[in-house]
This record gives sequence, structure tokens and C-alpha cells, in this order.
Amino acid sequence: MASAELMRLHKLHELDRAILQIRKRAAAMEEGVKLKALADQARAEFDAANGNYHTRHAEQRDLELANQQITDKVKSIEKQLFGGSIVNPKEIDALEHQKAGLIAAQAGNDEKILGYWDEVPKLKDLAESAKSRAEVAIKKFSDWKANAAVQKVELERRFKELSAQRPALAKTIGPALIGRYDAIRAKSQVGMADVTHEKTCEECGSAIPEMVMVQLIDDKVVVCEGCTRILYYTGGVV
Ligand SMILES: [Zn+2]
Repeated sequence: MASAELMRLHKLHELDRAILQIRKRAAAMEEGVKLKALADQARAEFDAANGNYHTRHAEQRDLELANQQITDKVKSIEKQLFGGSIVNPKEIDALEHQKAGLIAAQAGNDEKILGYWDEVPKLKDLAESAKSRAEVAIKKFSDWKANAAVQKVELERRFKELSAQRPALAKTIGPALIGRYDAIRAKSQVGMADVTHEKTCEECGSAIPEMVMVQLIDDKVVVCEGCTRILYYTGGVV
């Protein structure tokens, strides 16, 4: 059996461990910051891919429209040329020249349009897959957010409740022992460790030597050789 003081310290240790658990869970909530960053990044990538696609698509349509206008213009020139209204050779030459220029420009545009036909569908695919990725990332973050608000309130409530119990419990332990306990806790987060049925340290798994077991049974304050935490032994009673 452990001494009454060690039993009280063990109670404090259990409280401290519960508070530590809450702290760890609160820290795990920081995950939301990461999820938000991922969602923001995915959204920015979609915006960029989508912008790229729309820009190229608009350029393609402008060229197609320009070529349509050229076709119309060429038709109207041909109408003039073959309509018989123009007979002056100079005028005919000028129109022929204009028509040739227009056809050359159209051929240039066609070449560019072919490039767009190849590129634009690929950009569209990229934008669509970026959109799916963004939707997934945004949903992950919003699911987390919905859940986190509830969890945060509960964690804060438990934290306050448990922290309020600590001072009274700490007062029941002598200054030497609690000083030692708090020093270990400051270093290793957990200040005390139970001795298992297999006579090992519950925290670090080190085997507890027979000599130490004798001291524990004798109610001495002994620390684990593996992790230096204060050992707690109930002799299998608890
Ligand atoms: Zn240990």
C-alpha cells in the first residue's frame, strides 16, 4: 500500500493527467489551421487554373470571331469583284490585294486556333480537377469547423472545472513532495507513474527492480530508474 500522502499525490496526478489530455486535445484542434490553409491553397489553385482556361478560351473565341468577320469581308469583296460593278483595273487590283491580305491573315489565325483547340480542352480539364480538389478541401475544413466550435466549448468548460479543483488538492501534499512532483512534471509532463501488475513502470515500461519494490512496499518515495517519475504502487489493491 502507498502512504496516505502518496495516495493524495496520486489523486493530484490523475487530475493533472486529465488536464494534460484536455490540453492535448485543444492542441489537436490546431489542425483546423492546417485544414484552412489547405482549403485556401486549393481554392487559389482552382482560381488560377480557371482563370487560365477562361483567358485562353476567350482568346480562341476572339480569333474564331475575327476569322468569321474575315470570311464575310472576303465574300463582300468577291461580290464586288464579280458583280460587274467595278471595271477599273486599278480598283480591281486593290480589291484583289486586300482579299489576299485578308486570306493570309485568316490562315495565320487558323494556325493559332489549331493550337488553342489542342490547349484549351486540356486547360479545361485542369480547371475541373482543381475545382474537385478545392471542393474536397473546403468541405473538410467546413466539417471540421462545424464540429470544432462545439468541442472547443466543452474542452474549455472541462479545463476550467478541473483546473479549479487543483489548488485544494495540491494543498493536501507536503511542500517537499509536491515540489519534487512538479519539477518532474515540468520536465516530463507527467510526474507520477503507476507500477503495473507485471512490476513495470506504466509510463516508460522499465522493469522495477526487487529492491525498489521493497522500498515501495515500505511506503518510500521512489522514482523510476527509466523515466525518473515518482512511482505509485498499491500492492495490487487498487
Ligand atoms: Zn518509468
